[in-house]
Amino acid sequence: MKLILLGPPAAGKGTQAECIRERYSIAHISTGAMLRAEIAAETPLGLLAKSIIDEGNLVPDEIINEMVKRRIAQDDCKNGFLLDGYPRTIEQANALAEICGIDAVIDINVDSEVIISRVASRRICPSCGHSQSVSGEAEEDCAKCGGELIRRADDAPERMRHRLDVYREHTEPLINYYIERELLVPIDGARTIPEVSEQIFAFIDEMIGENDVE
Ligand code: AMP
Repeated sequence: MKLILLGPPAAGKGTQAECIRERYSIAHISTGAMLRAEIAAETPLGLLAKSIIDEGNLVPDEIINEMVKRRIAQDDCKNGFLLDGYPRTIEQANALAEICGIDAVIDINVDSEVIISRVASRRICPSCGHSQSVSGEAEEDCAKCGGELIRRADDAPERMRHRLDVYREHTEPLINYYIERELLVPIDGARTIPEVSEQIFAFIDEMIGENDVE
């Protein structure tokens, strides 16, 4: 089973990807998380990517395409994978199509206003990469590993607005791209996390049942 999770930044792709990975045991490939790991390890790619990411811009297609190509070739992707945050441009989608076919593109729809308010409470754990929402009343630690939570530099309100513009210009055209290829599955992402998961699971269960997709 090869899936893509599409949607604006902070639509809940990472959270839903974790739920899908747990239920169907497929590899979760988050290009954002891979880049953040490169930054933390201070690799040449990380050093190049840091300022681009902090500004809310996109890392060049050739770099991302190569990174994903290598990741998909790894053993844990043999039974399928879930791409979270890739492709983000038509050029990336074309590069992916040359590597492999995709079974479905799950498009999580959320209004910009909901996204802006969600991001205000979003925090990430630099130790394990887990992302969670905080209430703001009391200090909270990472629910997964107990690490200290921080706000992503690219989640600052002005950066977030820019990321939404970048999404509209470069990534939103992928909706039509995948509609034309009859792969798009629209999901209402404004609902609660379990409700969004339920919609996604219902689609995947039906797809697996109908096509016996592996
Ligand atoms: P994410 O964690 O998916 O929100 O990604 C964080 C940031 O990493 C994005 O705002 C981009 O700067 C960069 N990034 C992640 N995936 C891609 C991609 N497929 N193409 C270009 N840049 C990306």
